[in-house]
Amino acid sequence: MDLELTAADLAFQSEVRAFLDQNLTPELRAAGRRLTSVFVDRKYSLPWQKILHAKGWVAPTWPVEYGGAGWDEMQRYIFSIECARAGAPSLAPMGLRMVGPCIMRYGTPEQKSFYLPRILSGEDYWCQGYSEPGAGSDLASLQLRADSDGDHYVLNGSKIWTTHAHWANRMFCLVRTRFDGQPQAGITFLLLEMDTPGITVKPIITLAGEHEVNQVFFDDVRVPKTGRLGEENQGWTVAKYLLEFERGGGSAAGLQASLRRLRAMAQAEPGGQGGALIGDPAFRAKLAAAEIAVQAIEVTEHRVMSALSAGKPPGPASSILKTQGTEAMQRIDELAIEAAGYYAYVDQPEARAPGSNATPVGPDHSLIAMPRYLNNRAGSIYGGSNEIQRDIMARLVLGL
Ligand SMILES: Cc1cc2nc3c(=O)[nH]c(=O)nc-3n(C[C@H](O)[C@H](O)[C@H](O)COP(=O)(O)OP(=O)(O)OC[C@H]3O[C@@H](n4cnc5c(N)ncnc54)[C@H](O)[C@@H]3O)c2cc1C
Repeated sequence: MDLELTAADLAFQSEVRAFLDQNLTPELRAAGRRLTSVFVDRKYSLPWQKILHAKGWVAPTWPVEYGGAGWDEMQRYIFSIECARAGAPSLAPMGLRMVGPCIMRYGTPEQKSFYLPRILSGEDYWCQGYSEPGAGSDLASLQLRADSDGDHYVLNGSKIWTTHAHWANRMFCLVRTRFDGQPQAGITFLLLEMDTPGITVKPIITLAGEHEVNQVFFDDVRVPKTGRLGEENQGWTVAKYLLEFERGGGSAAGLQASLRRLRAMAQAEPGGQGGALIGDPAFRAKLAAAEIAVQAIEVTEHRVMSALSAGKPPGPASSILKTQGTEAMQRIDELAIEAAGYYAYVDQPEARAPGSNATPVGPDHSLIAMPRYLNNRAGSIYGGSNEIQRDIMARLVLGL
């Protein structure tokens, strides 16, 4: 997008740049630049979150009364662009972007005053317990049972694909509190502590060899009813509200940064006219198509940001953004593999680590091309698969 910045916007941009220059250590920048998945390692995202929190900039889209930055739409846009340009690590979304807005909307005053400040500061690290071995796209069929026992629920069953459950100290999850009637009408939304006796977290190692997701087992786990968000059996409403925020997906600023990196790779790698791959007309056509796709995402993202800043949930625009964002990401990944050529196939986890002294084989950019490609295949599955998002668009946008 061509920005027409006012004098005030330019002053804000300079302030953000100066802040990033002063606070982003080389290690934090390397963590952002060498990210191979959606989520940065907690070792790097948490220190960065604390720095942003101290400055009051950790939650750009939250209302000011809960600790938001109080920025207008343009300021938020400038901030995201500058962070992506500087290679700042992304923050874990489960607290700030997912359960936080739900607590604001459905929480009791006690829940708001307890949880929200801890989300902002990073004191609490959340994971999302929605999917189960038999419930993914068809989420309403979930079976993790929660039996009422006085002022507690007793949980038995399992959740799967739980991102960062091995690091989280809290989980927001969907449980079944009624087995008769409509499946959606028997679901309750619970906030629980991960160190409660009876919870076991088992790793699932991904195709890229990384430990990000887990299966979580619940064996007679007692959760106080004070952890319930909303009414018993009304959790589906909260769950759907949260999904609108989860689907927010990849940001245009992040995708622009990936495009810049891809362009630099194509300039450095041999292949086309003039010696470099960027001189190959077929490659340039694919690069241009990816750039156009990212520009379209910028337009959708503005709609979502406008809705958020007006205090409204993003609605079906989040499904469009999620689909466009993940597909553009995968398209860029495929071109990066093409550009890295045979170096893309050398897996070098030690050389990839942000603080590593190991000498990489081949150019620096080829270190992350393949793990990024493999991890991002999941982009069109997690957060509600793209087929399901298209179904939502057909119903809510096209009225089919
Ligand atoms: C890397 C990763 C991280 C994840 N993190 C979390 C997490 O932190 N917490 C959490 O709760 N879950 C998480 N998930 C789970 C994710 O939400 C589910 O994988 C997703 O909802 C799809 O469910 P499923 O895997 O059971 O596939 P299924 O629902 O079995 O779908 C299989 C295929 O069938 C298609 N399909 C299914 N139903 C329809 C339909 N009605 N119309 C058209 N096509 C359909 C799907 O699009 C998909 O291609 C994660 C998944 C991944 C891959």
